[in-house]
Amino acid sequence: MARGAGPRRLGRPGRTLRRCVMVVDGNALAGLLDGVLGAEPTTARLRCTGCGGAGLLGRTRVHRSAMGSVARCRDCDTVLLTVVETPSGRAVSLPGARNVAVV
Ligand SMILES: [Zn+2]
Repeated sequence: MARGAGPRRLGRPGRTLRRCVMVVDGNALAGLLDGVLGAEPTTARLRCTGCGGAGLLGRTRVHRSAMGSVARCRDCDTVLLTVVETPSGRAVSLPGARNVAVV
């Protein structure tokens, strides 16, 4: 095999890149979404496109890492909401939420 062909290696050979992901509840998103989903974003009600269930953002399961935060449905694991910090600002997406009721 020619040098440089094959899978791309990152860092030293044999070294693995570990992702540090913390799982918390949706209340952890309160500061990140302040002003985006009403005055109290954790009380926003989302309907899941995966299972049709509805619930409060504060009751979702949130995976947090250096890349951002992902809120998942507690019933079917569908990604309801993502928050990512980009060079141009905070990007919020609702890929798995059919509708959002802001109280
Ligand atoms: Zn669901």
